[in-house]
Amino acid sequence: MKQRLIAFMQGRYGNDELNILLLISSLLLNLLSPISEIFSGLGMVCICYAIYRMFSKNIYQRRCENAKILPYVSFIKAKLKNKGKARLFMCPKCKRTLRIPKGKGKVTVNCPCGNAIKRKS
Ligand SMILES: [Zn+2]
Repeated sequence: MKQRLIAFMQGRYGNDELNILLLISSLLLNLLSPISEIFSGLGMVCICYAIYRMFSKNIYQRRCENAKILPYVSFIKAKLKNKGKARLFMCPKCKRTLRIPKGKGKVTVNCPCGNAIKRKS
């Protein structure tokens, strides 16, 4: 049985961060379904898209889709990990997560991409 599953999944994309995000959002949308049926429908769309992406054989396209959301996912992970120690923000040019210590006033941050950003810490 395990060998058949391995053979079936060979050449298919599998799971990634976007699929996890789609499944979490479908769970949240289904929790809102008592308010309106639209949320339940949107949750089902998210699940169907996640399943489609998981079994897709167009690996290059799926990786491109995942690469578009990876900066945002890493920003959310950094925000959750931060616990109020530093001010986090995203570079508008390259979408990299930047951090500055809190309480230093207005500072200029130089991103590795060459973009200079003025922010209040
Ligand atoms: Zn940048």
